[in-house]
Amino acid sequence: MPEGPEIRRAADRLAEAVAGRPLVRAWFAFPALKHHEAGLVGRRIESITPRGKALLTRFDHGWTLYSHNQLYGTWKIAAAGERPATTRSLRVALDTADRSILLYSASDVSMWPSSTVDSHPFLAALGPDVLEPGLDAREVESRLGSPRFRGRALGSLLLDQRFLAGMGNYLRSEVLFDAGLHPARRPRDLDDGERGRLAGSLLAIPRLSYHTRGIAPADRMRDDYLGDAADAFRFQVFGREGQPCPACGSAIARIDAASRRLYLCPRCQPADRAAAAPR
Ligand SMILES: [Zn+2]
Repeated sequence: MPEGPEIRRAADRLAEAVAGRPLVRAWFAFPALKHHEAGLVGRRIESITPRGKALLTRFDHGWTLYSHNQLYGTWKIAAAGERPATTRSLRVALDTADRSILLYSASDVSMWPSSTVDSHPFLAALGPDVLEPGLDAREVESRLGSPRFRGRALGSLLLDQRFLAGMGNYLRSEVLFDAGLHPARRPRDLDDGERGRLAGSLLAIPRLSYHTRGIAPADRMRDDYLGDAADAFRFQVFGREGQPCPACGSAIARIDAASRRLYLCPRCQPADRAAAAPR
């Protein structure tokens, strides 16, 4: 299951392929969307942005395509007008003169006036996205302190997209390790220093992953590459059960939290705060 950084990188690739160029054709499999096809010709895609696991494709005539891939949906990039052979069913095709973007298998697709798309029930329930540049540590700290979230165990809260969108399972382990916090602890049990550190990690770790993870060596040579090899994203604890903690050398443990695997260092992330070692 892709997490925020991977979803955003995929959205960036779609936007690179087609944004800013006039559409020569738009096609929807859904009868309810057919009447939008003609009006999209000649229009341009302004942006393609993830919100949690949904994707918003914003057009320059005031409309936005909402799509959610759920389990099976997938976007592909193709040469203009090309329809790759596949057993998947095509649901949306947006063609420019150079490239096309194609959505397969997704069923949760709708068109919204851009000014109202935030009222979509899925989007309205989401917390702010950790990868949105405008989100700062102060706002994350204030969410941690809110009555709605402060009594929840961090292991479950950090997967809840209503708290912060764009988080996911590997990010949860890496954020908690970075902040030195055990997943059973709750925001209301944290002191100010711990809460501040957690807010910082909740922003820094997903952003580092977005900028560096999965980047091929060739990409590192590009002028617009934002990181450098020294800060490439590597898992510190996730998937590393039994290996030494990079901070203290203790064996990394694997537990289940909120029904999903979570990796932690028992020494750097003690369940009992009194035992917490300074990091
Ligand atoms: Zn450790």
